[in-house]
Amino acid sequence: MKIAVARETRDGESRVAMVPELVGRLTALGYEVAVEPDAGRHALLADDEYAAAGAVVDETALDGADVVVAVQPLATDSIRRLQAGAATISFLPTGQEPEVVGALRDAGITSFAMELVPRISRAQSMDALSSQALVSGYRCAVVAAGMLRRFFPLNMTAAGTVPPAEVVVLGAGVAGLQAIATARRLGAVVKAYDVRAAAAEEIRSMGAQAIDLELDTLDGAGGYAREMTEERAALQMERLTPYVAAADALITTAAVPGRRAPLLVTRSMVEQMKPGSVVVDLAAESGGNVEGAEPGEVVRIGNAQVWGGQNVPSQMPGPASKLYAQNIVNIVQLMTLEGAFAPDFEDEIVAGSCVTHGGRIHHEPTRLALE
Ligand code: NAD
Repeated sequence: MKIAVARETRDGESRVAMVPELVGRLTALGYEVAVEPDAGRHALLADDEYAAAGAVVDETALDGADVVVAVQPLATDSIRRLQAGAATISFLPTGQEPEVVGALRDAGITSFAMELVPRISRAQSMDALSSQALVSGYRCAVVAAGMLRRFFPLNMTAAGTVPPAEVVVLGAGVAGLQAIATARRLGAVVKAYDVRAAAAEEIRSMGAQAIDLELDTLDGAGGYAREMTEERAALQMERLTPYVAAADALITTAAVPGRRAPLLVTRSMVEQMKPGSVVVDLAAESGGNVEGAEPGEVVRIGNAQVWGGQNVPSQMPGPASKLYAQNIVNIVQLMTLEGAFAPDFEDEIVAGSCVTHGGRIHHEPTRLALE
């Protein structure tokens, strides 16, 4: 059985789906590992390191592969090179990639989407949304600290005291909690808000103050948030305005599965921030939590510099790749039986994450949307 590691081809993607130190885990499962040349280059992983770990580094790595692992969906010309019945494991946002889904179906590929892995306890080791959100959350806090031209921590010196920065975090899921933890480690005073009932306790456990807006909580299915009504959104904005105005740094990470990111902070709220303040919007790519934020850019709104996130995990490609590769090894292991790739469709992790199989779209919401 051959498992191939694809070289990422999309603009701005610096991660790689497998790292040399984990190649041995795949060979121990019974796979031959083939890697496309330069696959790890942007993550500072050399072809020689993959070869030393037991992989074959070759331009023809994808040819004859039983399983291909990647970060981003494969390009359609790579899909056409695969043998019918081969499997791919990558991120595969089906709503945004109908052509790729169609190509996988038509080529008879069994494809798995890492973002569809059910978020159940047994699947935690395969949860790439969480592993990459951890990287994003850390990065957001460090970007905010780097852009802010003042200290995060309190400094008490012989000459006098410099107060700590005040950081506000909106959205306290995996990324938001990591942003809180990082800002706290740097010594900032942190306040945070999330619409889920369990979030307040989680925020406090990170050493931050949970903002109470005296609004209903919005718990949806699967431990995720529900979308706000327009009325609820307007009230939330009104009550958050003084917190945003008082913040030196605002970090936003809010998301609702399958929806555009909720708009939490209007341009006029940002305009009330102090001179020198910074805003980091992790959700800029999926519609933005902050009005006017642009993915991959820093824009000025009023007194604030507003940084919009774009493929944020890829900005720390080494650790992001290592964590993702661990998720990949764990899901490959789940689908391997006695040295063969043999996904068991009775398993809810396998069934839940499969997008195409046997010439059909297996993922029902995608099939209903596309066919
Ligand atoms: P996410 O990326 O979908 O959303 C990020 C955060 O934004 C969430 O906490 C959400 O509540 C918040 N949000 C949504 N709308 C908001 C609004 N209007 N205002 C403020 N905040 C808003 O979520 P996530 O980080 O992937 O995780 C969400 C939940 O799932 C968490 O409870 C997390 O602990 C849980 N989770 C469980 C597992 C598991 O059991 N395997 C794995 C990962 C996450």
